[in-house]
Amino acid sequence: MRALTYHGATDVRVDTVPDPILEAPDDIILRVTATAICGSDLHLYHGKIPQTESGDIFGHEFMGVVEEVGSEVSAVSGVYAGFIHGFLFGDAFDKGLTFKMGQTHVQRFLPERLEHIEAGRLQPELIITHRLALEEAPLGYQLFDKKQDDCRKVILVTGAAAGTLGADHEYA
Ligand SMILES: [Zn+2]
Repeated sequence: MRALTYHGATDVRVDTVPDPILEAPDDIILRVTATAICGSDLHLYHGKIPQTESGDIFGHEFMGVVEEVGSEVSAVSGVYAGFIHGFLFGDAFDKGLTFKMGQTHVQRFLPERLEHIEAGRLQPELIITHRLALEEAPLGYQLFDKKQDDCRKVILVTGAAAGTLGADHEYA
């Protein structure tokens, strides 16, 4: 499969990597149809997370189609993948640090927001400034990182040919 991979600070490339396989009974394999670049991806992009290694695949804001499920999976309600091993929890443990974490407030307000979206009062897609092919992901990272071309949110579409979506496509 094709994936955005890390090769050092601000050096990301789209490479061919091994296809995923089910490893645990609660794994799923998702065929990604679109993904977004998150502000938190920029910490990785800048090389600020020490455990990031050359060849690591970035991205956690994706959507797609479930292609395969492990033996213990009966339903898939939502998918969110993070990069939790990038944080040095062992070091934090040694120093006695306390973490407080939680899901963003988005979850709590989701029903109300969906109501506004369905009624046409809220258009969350207006935040999208760039739609690019996955193959153009390095350009997307650069635009988003430097806030070039008034970049606010980049959507990467898998399977699209580079140059076909436009670097400044406004969502209609
Ligand atoms: Zn995110």
